[in-house]
Amino acid sequence: MNPESKPGPPCTGAGPSASRARAIQGLTAHSLDVLIIGGGIVGAGIARDAAMRGLKVGLVEQHDFAFGTSSRSSRLLHGGMRYLAQGRLGLVRQASVEKKIVHKIAPHLAEPLPFLFPVYRGNPHWVLWQLKMGVKIYDLLCGGRNFGASTWLSKKSALQKIPGLAESDLKGAVRYYDGFTNDARLVLDTLRSAAKYGATLLNYCRFRNAINQNGWAADVEDLVSGGAGGIRAHAVVNATGPWAGGLPHSRVKLRITKGVHVVVERSRLSAEDAVVMTEGARILFVIPWGERTILGTTDTDYQGSLDRVEAEPEAINYILKVANRFFPNARLVPSDVLSSWAGLRPLLADPDGKPSDISRSHQIRSFEPGWWDVAGGKLTTYRLMAEETVDLIVRWLQKQPDAKDPTALRAQSRTAEEPLLPTSETAGVSGLLPPAFERRIVEHFCRNEWAVHLDDVFVRRTGWHHYLKKRKEVAQQVVDWMGELLGWSSEQKAAELKRYANIP
Ligand SMILES: Cc1cc2nc3c(=O)[nH]c(=O)nc-3n(C[C@H](O)[C@H](O)[C@H](O)COP(=O)(O)OP(=O)(O)OC[C@H]3O[C@@H](n4cnc5c(N)ncnc54)[C@H](O)[C@@H]3O)c2cc1C
Repeated sequence: MNPESKPGPPCTGAGPSASRARAIQGLTAHSLDVLIIGGGIVGAGIARDAAMRGLKVGLVEQHDFAFGTSSRSSRLLHGGMRYLAQGRLGLVRQASVEKKIVHKIAPHLAEPLPFLFPVYRGNPHWVLWQLKMGVKIYDLLCGGRNFGASTWLSKKSALQKIPGLAESDLKGAVRYYDGFTNDARLVLDTLRSAAKYGATLLNYCRFRNAINQNGWAADVEDLVSGGAGGIRAHAVVNATGPWAGGLPHSRVKLRITKGVHVVVERSRLSAEDAVVMTEGARILFVIPWGERTILGTTDTDYQGSLDRVEAEPEAINYILKVANRFFPNARLVPSDVLSSWAGLRPLLADPDGKPSDISRSHQIRSFEPGWWDVAGGKLTTYRLMAEETVDLIVRWLQKQPDAKDPTALRAQSRTAEEPLLPTSETAGVSGLLPPAFERRIVEHFCRNEWAVHLDDVFVRRTGWHHYLKKRKEVAQQVVDWMGELLGWSSEQKAAELKRYANIP
């Protein structure tokens, strides 16, 4: 995991505004087989699968791709220890199989990560002997071998493995494997793959409404030019994550909960393995990320704006307090926090359960012909959600008299086998750590990855925003490079810096 890594690919794309104009033309000129609303991991996964099966695919995203929850997760590919403890074996098995598939198809974005789970006297929710059994079951649920075999550790070995871990009342630990990913990069590379199979993708384009008249006619608004347009499609998929309940035609009922993460320097809190920290039944993670450490997350009901989600000081203090309890010598204070992010979980509604108890399962439903609502799920299970959705759409399309020639469509998904992208297209630009800070890297994102604004590059395509210390100086340099590439005036550059500074 070295950020000062290899060269990026050559710039192959046309100019950014030309490719945007081509995308608008591709979306509006002819009828699509399927229009996907939402450019998070679920929409991206559906676009890739559908395009690989021969469908004519369009996708619109109202902000940047991966703007929503899919750039604000814990970045884990996991079955979920907590769901195992809740007895949700089906869900754990599903996600455990999927975490290995993501590792197979996108090895640059999926690294096996060992987790040390220390157990302390006095917490009735996490009992050592039960966890010892649990991690063995966890290994078995991977549909073959897990990334590594789980083990049990005595108190002494746990303290050797994770120096600085609180000693008092420590009984021992278990160690098991999950995967670490880069959520926003997973979305972008999935979309790059979809585009290679012919999908037409447009960010900063909002779906407003649609009517069903011999197929769907959707109204969309191009938020870059301010123009509006119409897109015709046989089928429409609502893949808008936390926004899914508010879309016209949607029947989705969500319970939205918020989770906050913070990033500190590794020198302030270092752990070679990820560490599970418990707060009663809840669990939080310490996740190593290059020279940084990610801490999180919280899980609280949320009713605020979906477009601007803030990591409030109380949540940050709570995370630091838990981390300080588990690592008493760290003495973390708010000024140690380099960056933070807050995301919204689009959970299927269960008004009675505690936020952390609500199921992470997914739902794909169609109440109007040709309209599918896809909701719930996890980053880890995005590929399966996409496969199931496209299976339904293909079956439906095959029955429509005026839709695509059924023989031109593949009934079977290939997304579990086909690599996302060849290594030559990801080296230097896409990985678990931010890429090197270079002009040609920024040029790649502008030409080949649909970057429109400074924060598209700085936050989602590179992760510099969360990783770097001297962000202001670096942002100034990036805005100059982007200005040259995209033809920005000095006023536009100032507006981009202001927009970036306003990110919560
Ligand atoms: C704190 C936190 C931690 C998590 N950690 C993990 C983890 O470690 N592992 C894991 O597997 N899962 C994790 N998850 C869950 C996972 O991140 C989500 O399930 C997943 O990212 C949801 O993806 P999505 O595509 O459904 O939604 P989103 O990523 O939110 O995408 C929906 C998109 O739709 C767009 N949209 C909305 N309305 C419109 C419109 N009218 N027109 C056009 N576009 C529109 C939005 O702008 C948005 O970009 C976590 C979630 C949270 C909040």
